[in-house]
Amino acid sequence: MTVKTRFAPSPTGYLHVGGARTALFSWLYARKHGGTFVLRIEDTDLERSTTDSVNAILEGMTWLGLEYDEGPFYQTRRFDRYNEVIEDLLQRGLAYRCDCSKERLEALREEQMKHKQKPRYDGHCRNRHVDADAPHVIRFRNPMEGIVVVDDMIRGKVAYDNAELDDLIIRRSDGSPTYNLTVVVDDADMGITHVIRGDDHLNNTPRQINILRALGKEPPRYAHVPMILGDDGARLSKRHGAVSVMQYREDGFLPEALLNYLVRLGWSHGDQEVFSLDEMIELFDIEDVNKAPSSFNTDKLLWLNQHYIKQSDPKHIAHLLSPHMGKLGIDPAEDGPDLVEVVEAQQERAKTLVEMAEISAFFYKEFEEYDAKAAKKHLRPVAQAPLERAREALERLDDWRPEPLHKAVADVADALDLNMGKVAQPLRVAVSGRAATPGIDVTLYLVGKDATLRRIDRALEHIRQRAAASS
Ligand code: GLU
Repeated sequence: MTVKTRFAPSPTGYLHVGGARTALFSWLYARKHGGTFVLRIEDTDLERSTTDSVNAILEGMTWLGLEYDEGPFYQTRRFDRYNEVIEDLLQRGLAYRCDCSKERLEALREEQMKHKQKPRYDGHCRNRHVDADAPHVIRFRNPMEGIVVVDDMIRGKVAYDNAELDDLIIRRSDGSPTYNLTVVVDDADMGITHVIRGDDHLNNTPRQINILRALGKEPPRYAHVPMILGDDGARLSKRHGAVSVMQYREDGFLPEALLNYLVRLGWSHGDQEVFSLDEMIELFDIEDVNKAPSSFNTDKLLWLNQHYIKQSDPKHIAHLLSPHMGKLGIDPAEDGPDLVEVVEAQQERAKTLVEMAEISAFFYKEFEEYDAKAAKKHLRPVAQAPLERAREALERLDDWRPEPLHKAVADVADALDLNMGKVAQPLRVAVSGRAATPGIDVTLYLVGKDATLRRIDRALEHIRQRAAASS
């Protein structure tokens, strides 16, 4: 059997991290078994579905690198097919028209609630003739007896009594088909072998199996993935922080870090934390996914992100960093140092690309203000002589590369009989505005000669003004 999985989002919002994890599990399962991964857009809810949401989902999938082999298929383009199936079920007596009024259904519901019964349709129209021209819905004739067993790859066997399942609506009065019908027709038509989805759909599964059987189809295998919780134990939502995949891109996360984080939510392989995509494909198995919900932990995601920032090829990081520099009004391609060299200098120093952009902006443009603490500590009158001497030495220096720069700064320290830090630290604050940067040699190299001299002048002026203000 060739494995075929699908991701079937409803385009009513952004791509949520929970959805992305479901997509990842489906994708991994297909890749692991040399199968096919299908993207299906479940847009039959015309009121809530939007094109923006479809685009956000496609963008999120692309950013994460979850490539689909088939699709995207849009359910709204398949209404003829759904109607054909519904007509066939009607003809064979496996579905029926129902014209029960809202009022009748409401009264029925109230009566059932009063007697502490589960609200369900009572089958009033099962054997009534309802005119096709009159307003009506169409219901599936669910078997009244027997049990349906969902043999779930994560949950194990879950049995449902048919008597508990009422005759669900498969076509609304406006003629549109409902979720349980479309999903079944699509899974069957598309030859889906494994349905991997959120466990909020577990209770739909026995109904879907019944419809599949009515269509003469073998149900696929099911795997219902438990939900993701926030740190307070409630279902993960906006109030816990970012939940949209694209927000993570905005916030400076690498797609590989997010994927690595998501695969570990509810799945593990010994105590291994870091997985390349190839390793995930090799080691992941849907049957090893936990039954219990897992909790989202932003610190761990940050840790992984930092790990990938440190380990990745600087060229790759530079590519991803570039848009974040752009948001600070910097085009690294235009002028200033080579962004790859900047990344090499900063790789150990940032947890996110947003942070890396912030601590790297001074290589490209004048910083606005000194970090107050750094200036207070390092731009004092005692720093005047070291800065002046350094300025002279650096102005004379023709070979503006880290090694000669290091020597020039060290020579100034020697000449003034100071340790290196007493020269390097004021210089660092002078050229960057901050107390922590890469090594002074690399920092000066990346800032460049003109900007270095100009910023030393600015720092000397700052020291003079400060002295004047305090005298
Ligand atoms: N469209 C459904 C949703 O977004 C998923 C349906 C399925 O995977 O069967 O919740």
